[in-house]
Amino acid sequence: MYEIEKTYKPRSIHSLLDAMEETGYDGKIIAGGTDVVVKIREGALKAKALIDISTIKEMQFIRVVEGKVQIGAGTTFSEIEDHDLFEGRLKGLKEGAMEVGSPQIRNAGTIGGNICNASPAADTVPPLLALNAKVVLQSRQGLRSMTLEDFFLGKGKVDLGPGEFLYYIEFEQMTGEQGLGFEKLGPRKALAISKICTAVFIDLDKDLILRDIRIANGSLGPNSLREREVEAVLKGKKLTEELKEKAQIKFKEVISLRLKGRSGVDFKEEAIRGIFKQALEKSIAEAGSQTKAVQ
Ligand SMILES: Cc1cc2nc3c(=O)[nH]c(=O)nc-3n(C[C@H](O)[C@H](O)[C@H](O)COP(=O)(O)OP(=O)(O)OC[C@H]3O[C@@H](n4cnc5c(N)ncnc54)[C@H](O)[C@@H]3O)c2cc1C
Repeated sequence: MYEIEKTYKPRSIHSLLDAMEETGYDGKIIAGGTDVVVKIREGALKAKALIDISTIKEMQFIRVVEGKVQIGAGTTFSEIEDHDLFEGRLKGLKEGAMEVGSPQIRNAGTIGGNICNASPAADTVPPLLALNAKVVLQSRQGLRSMTLEDFFLGKGKVDLGPGEFLYYIEFEQMTGEQGLGFEKLGPRKALAISKICTAVFIDLDKDLILRDIRIANGSLGPNSLREREVEAVLKGKKLTEELKEKAQIKFKEVISLRLKGRSGVDFKEEAIRGIFKQALEKSIAEAGSQTKAVQ
């Protein structure tokens, strides 16, 4: 069995950077440990040193700065669940956080860990992709930022260099007739793909024209993915029942093609189409609750 020789518990970002350097950039960051500990126990993770970031207060925040919502990587799912900011229009993100495991897992697990673990089934990632979130990384050299979408390099892989860690996530605060919807397939054993979830962000104008739409899915690729082909069906068009129907057909078409030939998948096309419909309707309802435009 692989022995962990040393554990660090930095209490500030400054000491975290020191600890990373001291391990020769070979230390494994552990936040809530809900993924890391499982992997260590399974023998799937080899690390000589662990760097526990769970007590770094500087990484635990939810704030709004110049119109941008910023969430520290060390923020737990429970903290997101309890914060007023995630009521109303941003409820889709809270719903994603609430889908994670059990209350114990949500008390320990962090949004940063959910992202950096880069599982295709990470529940907070589709809402963050739909919000066009950016990741802000920190190293001794300073801050580096990129879209969350570009941060993912494949299953279990993110674009973190040596000596770099995820500091916080940020996205534009929602305004006007904007809404976010989230929906997940229930954990029914009959569905082999029960982890699939969909998030939809919409920006409507007063005439119900979709100024912008972003759709993201979880568990349908190596990472959570934006569904640009479906977005193209909707963007710039007037939101009608006919258009919604057209988008659902396209959604089903795109997903069917992606999962074609996947062995052992009990493919429930109508269920998948259904979660997209519900996420879309929720986003419309949220956007509509800001105005009387949507009936
Ligand atoms: C029983 C159980 C049920 C679960 N159910 C769900 C579920 O329903 N949905 C879901 O999405 N997940 C689920 N998970 C997975 C897990 O809880 C989440 O992925 C969680 O967000 C991981 O966060 P953490 O803080 O525990 O990460 P950790 O386990 O501490 O770390 C995960 C990875 O991220 C890296 N990391 C963490 N923080 C940083 C940082 N700031 N900078 C750089 N790298 C970092 C670590 O090095 C590691 O590679 C479940 C896990 C368990 C054990």
